[in-house]
Amino acid sequence: MKERVLTGDRITGKLHLGHYVGSLKNRVELQQRYESFIMLADVQALTTHFDQPQLIKDNLRKVALDYLAVGIDPDQSTLFVQSMIPEIAELTVYFSMFVTVNSLRHNPTIKTEAKERGYKEMYYGFLGYPVSQSADIAFCKATLIPVGEDQIPHIEQTRKIVRRFNDLYAPVLVEPRALVGERLEGLDGNSKMSKSMGNAIYLDSSPGEVEEKIKKAKTDPSRIHKHDPGHPDICPIYGYHCAFRPESKQDIYEQCSRGRIGCADCKKLATGAMNELLEPIRERRRQYEGQPKRIDELLVSGTDKARAIAKETMLEVREAMSIRY
Ligand code: SF4
Repeated sequence: MKERVLTGDRITGKLHLGHYVGSLKNRVELQQRYESFIMLADVQALTTHFDQPQLIKDNLRKVALDYLAVGIDPDQSTLFVQSMIPEIAELTVYFSMFVTVNSLRHNPTIKTEAKERGYKEMYYGFLGYPVSQSADIAFCKATLIPVGEDQIPHIEQTRKIVRRFNDLYAPVLVEPRALVGERLEGLDGNSKMSKSMGNAIYLDSSPGEVEEKIKKAKTDPSRIHKHDPGHPDICPIYGYHCAFRPESKQDIYEQCSRGRIGCADCKKLATGAMNELLEPIRERRRQYEGQPKRIDELLVSGTDKARAIAKETMLEVREAMSIRY
């Protein structure tokens, strides 16, 4: 039997190149070798957007379309909707019995996210979403989780929860390991491309939109003239060369450092590489866009498959916990 991979995204907005570099690229590569599950995390989206349910509903198909457009093959990967697997909520409740509030409060990703969102007080659901995420992983006994580096504490928390469950009751769950993707800088030079920071290039961008955004992107501010020596390490455009033209990154580094390339020319090269990457994604998007019914069918059949696995796991879980009556 193939090992299982579980990934997913909070469906609060369409996906961007940061998602691609951080996780989607790995998911496409892994789907041939692993049994791959991809979750549209609508419940997790509610932990931060409980007052905007329509936004989450609107994004369900958009994110599914993004997945298919980047090359997630529905014959190889199972797409499913989190809220349609009630067993995940049940498992979350069982896990929450032995996870301390302090361990959640000290989770560095929760702390950073709460700060970024300006939370003075944390909602119970938000504070507990790493527990729910552990249930997402555990229900399908996934062993490999492609994530961005900010998710590493959550995978660690999952490993602890699984170990604790197995020690307390019976060894029915599986400890996962993280496969950490690269991080892509934002157009504003922030260390992370993110929708909430407004510094992202979306996967559905047209060639012109990519060009416009890159034109306005931040560069090394100390470069006034074309021949001024630059500092590629502090320039997001250099990061894009590394991500999308890795064969030329050394060359760009030297040309920038020695003042032998202007930022406009450097940006054109990065734009060309990004548009080259996005072109087949646009083509697949066009194919699926005309088939909304097919997307719905894929989500229904994928959710049925995931639910059948969840039901099996929960029989084992309840048996282990002596609550299978
Ligand atoms: Fe950035 Fe390229 Fe300009 Fe150097 S030449 S500062 S890497 S845009």
